[in-house]
Amino acid sequence: SKAASRNFIQQIIDADIAAGKYKPAEIHTRFPPEPNGYLHIGHAKSICLNAGLAREFGGRFNLRFDDTNPVKEEQEYVDAIMDDVRWLGGEWEDRLFHASDYFDTLYDWAVALIKAGKAFVCDLDADQMREHRGTLTEPGKESPFRDRTVDENLELFAAMKAGKFKDGERTLRAKIDMASSNINLRDPVMYRIKHAHHQRTGDKWCIYPSYDYTHGQSDALEGITHSICTLEFENHRPLYDWCLDQLNELGLLPAGRPRQIEFARLNLTYTVMSKRKLLQLVQEKHVSGWDDPRMPTIRGLRRRGYTSESIRAFCERIGVAKFNSTIDMLWLEDALREHLNEVALRRMAVLEPLKVTLVDDAGQPLADEVVKTCSLANHPQDPYQGEREIPLGPMIYIEQGDFMEEAPKKFFRLKPGGPVRLRGAGIIVCQEVVKDSAGKVTELRCTFNPDTSAKIDDKKVKGTVHWVDAATAVDAPVRMYDHLFGVENPDKAPEGGTFLDNLNPNSLATLTAKLEPALAEAAAGDTFQFERLGYFTADTVESKPGKPVFNRTVTLRDTWGK
Ligand code: ATP
Ligand code: MG
Ligand code: MG
Repeated sequence: SKAASRNFIQQIIDADIAAGKYKPAEIHTRFPPEPNGYLHIGHAKSICLNAGLAREFGGRFNLRFDDTNPVKEEQEYVDAIMDDVRWLGGEWEDRLFHASDYFDTLYDWAVALIKAGKAFVCDLDADQMREHRGTLTEPGKESPFRDRTVDENLELFAAMKAGKFKDGERTLRAKIDMASSNINLRDPVMYRIKHAHHQRTGDKWCIYPSYDYTHGQSDALEGITHSICTLEFENHRPLYDWCLDQLNELGLLPAGRPRQIEFARLNLTYTVMSKRKLLQLVQEKHVSGWDDPRMPTIRGLRRRGYTSESIRAFCERIGVAKFNSTIDMLWLEDALREHLNEVALRRMAVLEPLKVTLVDDAGQPLADEVVKTCSLANHPQDPYQGEREIPLGPMIYIEQGDFMEEAPKKFFRLKPGGPVRLRGAGIIVCQEVVKDSAGKVTELRCTFNPDTSAKIDDKKVKGTVHWVDAATAVDAPVRMYDHLFGVENPDKAPEGGTFLDNLNPNSLATLTAKLEPALAEAAAGDTFQFERLGYFTADTVESKPGKPVFNRTVTLRDTWGK
């Protein structure tokens, strides 16, 4: 049936439209990041979901900064978030908002709630408030300040705003129900005193509204129809609705009523997603920064070489659930492989070079500076990508692992006396193995047969290896990344330790590779398939034309743990 292929949020919206509650073009979603860190792959799921719904119904999508906590928020994060949301395809056009845009309105509404007897100024400090709050099984105790008169509350709230008190000396609380089974309804805090400079409102305010008092009202002011958030807000929904109900009764809200819908947050294996932990990784220099290619941040994924298409495909594929679970990192990597297989140009690079000298039948190195010029397809499935010419001289590099001196029968790459095909060039036969005094293989001497039909039965040569011409090779650092954490669930700290004990000590190894000449001028951010090795992206920070630096983006196949 049609409904079966629709996720539960789409079904809710379908039903709202069928019931005549909204026209499709009225569907309005938002993404509400707090600018206290960089976005990560979990946020990408929320962006894809919210922007995707707006796009699907021809509705609207807002980007709203939930900037109610000036202490932790910074412009650097704001700029990066906007760039990342846009990169992911979340197009907000002219609908960029800030919760701080509503500070005046929220204040006026708080005054209205005080006048209606729905809010009061409380003198309890944080510890006392915690004591009064009760537990899941014990009702809370009412604040001794709960029955202040409206006039007294108005006066005190104005004094809070005017800066007459120190941080934490007073709060404004909603007057709901200290015996509620939902702790969020036990007279929750609406305003806190914080003498802090706000990056947008400056020093205008020294009281800041709480998330719970801000979010639903911001949704209502923007005309959001479906306010989608993660499951941990499920038991905040009664409070979300309470605030809207009170303001509605007072006739203060614009028409229309947002509905909060919760879905399961994305968790991924081998990584952590809490901003606090990501910040710790950066501050304690376990990674090079927020954009370290091992980080699950959008910045990190971009630098690693992830495409926005692959992230969107991943988010689409994992779907939207009502129960928390952990997704295998392989899903993300598979989505990337699929996209890069389509779009990445092919190149040759040798990561662990072994010198091969091409010799004639008498064992003398071939004299020609350029033995042959080879034409290789830039993309085997896409002839429009054309070909490139690669010189092949008398000395080349192959991968150390493509040669075995004592090879098992099934080893179809190079072995003494054996032939192997050089991709796009011809066939070599290993005539001599040169070793150093320690017995390490330092060079192979191979005869070369460019005309593959002449001397050797082409069909008997089973193996093909990649290679790079030594004279024109470009040396470049290539960073081989592995999972940042060595265990599937790094959040689970070992006995007496922290999540940091789960870091993988081998998550980064840098090799000096030999690259074919065409890679020298790779533009920062360009991704290639290095044939037989994987996908590699020119680093957006350190790679320069003529001096490339590559990051391994993803292997060709899933090889983790093998
Ligand atoms: P933290 O609690 O670590 O500060 P946060 O997850 O609350 O981070 P926000 O900036 O408030 O960060 O998140 C913006 C939006 O992204 C919220 O709607 C939130 O529900 C959603 N979101 C955050 N993490 C995930 C996740 N892992 N999966 C899906 N959505 C997420
Ligand atoms: Mg948050
Ligand atoms: Mg949060």
